[in-house]
Amino acid sequence: MRFQPALDKIPVYEAGKPIELVVREYGISPEKVIKLASNENPYGASPKVENAIREAVYKMPLYPDDSYRNLKEALAKTHGVDAKNVIQGNGSDQIFDFATRSVLNPGDKILQNGKTFSMYSIYAGQCGAETISVDSVLHNLDLFLDSYKKNSPKIIFICTPCNPIGDALNKDDLFSFLEKISPETMVVVDAAYMEFGKTRDPKKEVQASELISKFPNVLYTNTFSKIYGLGGMRIGYGIGNEELIRAFYKLRAPFNVSQLSQLAATVALEDRKFVDDYLRSNLKELLRYEEFARTKGLSYFESYTNFITIELDKARLTSTQLFETLLKEGIILRNLKSYGLNAIRITIGKPEQNDIVLDRLEKLL
Ligand SMILES: *Cc1c(COP(=O)(O)O)cnc(C)c1O
Repeated sequence: MRFQPALDKIPVYEAGKPIELVVREYGISPEKVIKLASNENPYGASPKVENAIREAVYKMPLYPDDSYRNLKEALAKTHGVDAKNVIQGNGSDQIFDFATRSVLNPGDKILQNGKTFSMYSIYAGQCGAETISVDSVLHNLDLFLDSYKKNSPKIIFICTPCNPIGDALNKDDLFSFLEKISPETMVVVDAAYMEFGKTRDPKKEVQASELISKFPNVLYTNTFSKIYGLGGMRIGYGIGNEELIRAFYKLRAPFNVSQLSQLAATVALEDRKFVDDYLRSNLKELLRYEEFARTKGLSYFESYTNFITIELDKARLTSTQLFETLLKEGIILRNLKSYGLNAIRITIGKPEQNDIVLDRLEKLL
């Protein structure tokens, strides 16, 4: 069969290894596996969400409310915007898909950071567009601006705080960058880790309401997969000006978010205490990893997220050796070799999980 030529250039996305794989391949019992590979919330989701789901199981046979009004109103309230500015997605991934399909034609370009979330490029590739990556590890907006002028991309993706490095932009720097971008260029600000970032440093906080009122070409995205512990429910959202959101609605399949996911997300927004407790624990535990890296003389990136990326150039093992050794013991981390880095990304776990991981790292590195 002749597939679209665009597919030849698209790599298949490699997700973090699932617990099931370790159970299957190494015979480790599932409750012993420590999975710190996909930046999930180690505490799971709020108990309020679990209860709400249990009570709503009877709704499974029914199609969801396709207006997604409850969820959109809750998100609009949380972010200080209008429900007309919000679109729900099957993960924020689906919002990136809407963004790329709404403006890209074959031969167009997108601009992104050197090290960033790999799905932007995959969605752009599906539209036949080319990815230009800025030649830097940390976001460098001067280089972004140079490349923007040279390449005239249709979309610029900014991930702040950024996965897989963990760095974050100051809001002021981001805003002065955005002022220099034509309103004809879409800018996607992927804020999947924003809550973690602003907890560590309020200067990193970018608010959706301010962003979209100042810049009609900017789309803000966020997800329930990380801080709210709902990765398995596949739910995220985009916030943008009405015209943009209306265009996305034309690309949407009906019922694009499941009945129970919609409910889970709506209830999750109500449990602020659960989120605040997690944020506090995360930052405290993150600092333990940073301290560990410093005492070991390993370079790491100061992180504004729920993970830490440690470079292993000065270590006894390469990232692949470390990753494989720990995998066999039932500890799943993320090897960043496919990003061209000899580095390991570790999601910050619960204190007792981190005790085990830090102890193993201490002995192996
Ligand atoms: C995890 C993550 C997302 C969220 O993906 P979902 O599709 O919402 O699960 C988006 N962007 C970045 C940078 C991420 O790390």
